[in-house]
Amino acid sequence: VKPQTRVPADLMIEAAWVIPVEPADLTLERHTVVVTDGRIAAVLPADEARRRYVPAEHLVLDRHVVLPGLVNLHTHAAMALFRGLADDLPLMTWLQEHIWPVETRLMSDALVHEGTLLACAEMLRGGVTCFNDMYFFPEGAARAAARVGMRAAIGMIVLGFPTPWGRSTDEYLERGLAAREAAASNPLVRFTVAPHAPYTVDDAAFLRVAALAAELEIPVHIHVHETLAEVEESVRAHGVRPLARLDRLGLVDPRLIAVHAVHLTREEVALLAMRGCHVAHCPAANLKLASGIAPVADLLAAGVNLGVGTDGAASNNRLDVLGEVRLAALLAKGASGNAAVVPAHEALRMATIRPARALGLAAEVGSLVPGKAADLVAVRLDGPEVEPCYDPASHLIYAAGREHVTHVWVAGRPVLSERRLQALDEGEVTRIAEQWKARVGSVR
Ligand SMILES: [Zn+2]
Repeated sequence: VKPQTRVPADLMIEAAWVIPVEPADLTLERHTVVVTDGRIAAVLPADEARRRYVPAEHLVLDRHVVLPGLVNLHTHAAMALFRGLADDLPLMTWLQEHIWPVETRLMSDALVHEGTLLACAEMLRGGVTCFNDMYFFPEGAARAAARVGMRAAIGMIVLGFPTPWGRSTDEYLERGLAAREAAASNPLVRFTVAPHAPYTVDDAAFLRVAALAAELEIPVHIHVHETLAEVEESVRAHGVRPLARLDRLGLVDPRLIAVHAVHLTREEVALLAMRGCHVAHCPAANLKLASGIAPVADLLAAGVNLGVGTDGAASNNRLDVLGEVRLAALLAKGASGNAAVVPAHEALRMATIRPARALGLAAEVGSLVPGKAADLVAVRLDGPEVEPCYDPASHLIYAAGREHVTHVWVAGRPVLSERRLQALDEGEVTRIAEQWKARVGSVR
């Protein structure tokens, strides 16, 4: 028998466990993820990988579980600079009296760029490889993602009132499209249209948003049904609930990423399912602002594609997707009275393949399938907090935390190694945070 010729590869990551997410509910023991040209070439038993491949680099992670990079389905990354600025307030007081005044005085490309760098540093250290962002000066956010080597979907924000980023619908869209154009050469950065919310955007602007999203075939990223007050105000002003109004304007379709979706009737859950819409579930922000608890068990039972998001660090106050999905799993059980709702593997899907699908990126990321981009996370499962380990999926959701993340790759490139950021140094991150703390302090 002729000996098999070994195939060259860029990187082999051999791990105690690999959770590929697809196929579902699977945990592989002593497997290897083979990476070539930034893509997953194979996921196979470790001894077979050693026989078949000659890697340029062979990393053995004896105590670790390797899984797809986590996807944060909703955030305002640069708001990391406002973390802890105002807490323990309801949504409208928090926004109108604390966040919007500071934003109005300080908003700039520099704030967004540096705030997003800070957020990216936090997210990468927590195993997040991709984030869906909505904020001003999207070019600054896109440059930050590019600098650290993260994948991102950047929102072209639209608001119904002037801000330092735009004075009219025309200007918001023109400037958003220019930012998209400026980032066109970066394959890791995509764009969405991001009308802020039904209570801040008028019908004419929504029609423009719907047309643009259809033309460019990109998602529509919007806060919707976050608070009961929002729903009641819509009924007063428009005669219908926000989702019915969006439906009237042609926005309730497979492009829609409905952020929060806390207050839903049974009919609205069915509508979201029937139209193939996606929900970005942000349980920490919903609890912290006392907005309510989204009907996650009902949404999942109806077949709605639901992923988790952290929302901004000003209302969470962590950009911690692993923590968020743990909260989502616990809350769904408690709120539904059913402990079987959102088991650990389902929770992992809510942080990987489901948000990837919402962003139109399911063919590219969200699971460890050959051909997909090598967006990967290694989590070290040793130490008294996570030993013994019977089931790494269970530990990821119920026992481990983001501090157990050791390595992160985006498109095969190491962006975190042994918990050290590869494209930013921690001194720079601290300087950014201190400088902006002083500026925020000077305008309050
Ligand atoms: Zn938000």
